[in-house]
Amino acid sequence: MRAPLTPALADLLTYLGEIGYGDVYLRAASAPALSAPAAAPDLVAPSAPPPKSPGVPAASAKTPDSAERAAQLAALAATVASCTRCRLCEGRTKVVFASGNPDAELMLIGEGPGAEEDRQGLPFVGPAGELLTKIIQAIEMKREEVYIANVVKCRPPGNRDPQPDEVSACRGYLERQIALVQPRVIVALGKVAAQTLLGNESAIGQMRGRWYQIQGVPAMVTYHPAALLRNSALKRPTWEDMQQVRDRLRAG
Ligand code: URA
Ligand code: SF4
Repeated sequence: MRAPLTPALADLLTYLGEIGYGDVYLRAASAPALSAPAAAPDLVAPSAPPPKSPGVPAASAKTPDSAERAAQLAALAATVASCTRCRLCEGRTKVVFASGNPDAELMLIGEGPGAEEDRQGLPFVGPAGELLTKIIQAIEMKREEVYIANVVKCRPPGNRDPQPDEVSACRGYLERQIALVQPRVIVALGKVAAQTLLGNESAIGQMRGRWYQIQGVPAMVTYHPAALLRNSALKRPTWEDMQQVRDRLRAG
């Protein structure tokens, strides 16, 4: 007999069906073993969350409960681990879903995994990642407290830009990640992330330094850390953009 679906998995199944990813989910669910831990059911709290103390305002306006959202993210990660919706599945070593805090206030979105990310299955762990860690620290945050993801979850060969059909195949996962993390601020890192999330074809120099809305969340565009490694003149404008991010987060 099949184990009953947890509420998180049931919601995810419904959602993936609605956006046309149902086939992927069902394949992943019926596979004998997933390459990522299928941890979602275990992550669902067995008992109701503790009642909030009366008179104490909730830490944030996030809904639903953060344990539930974390469970849905884990279930989504397990699904994506066996995704074959686009040709990028062919050359990948590991799917790179995300890293960091599923309840983060700040979400950073890059383009796609590079060589080191593909090896480790984690975003931003190569040279650009080291710089990203410094950028996060520069606004007095820790890497573990933010949530980091990419537009495409599998490495494009030779680090080429992901192609439009690959981006459209994958973007539903990113949209779901944004909806589940419910960050207060998003930072789009570089042209591919900005164009994907804002649905335009503007140059990065035109887009950066300004606020947008992505799925109702205030979003800043700035340069990709890999671009800063190639051209250190971009560090100053990036720092200015990140100061705006810091100020917005502090404004509460
Ligand atoms: N560049 C990206 O856009 N994402 C990564 O995860 C690593 C490098
Ligand atoms: Fe699936 Fe995205 Fe990987 Fe393409 S890049 S195979 S859509 S997870």
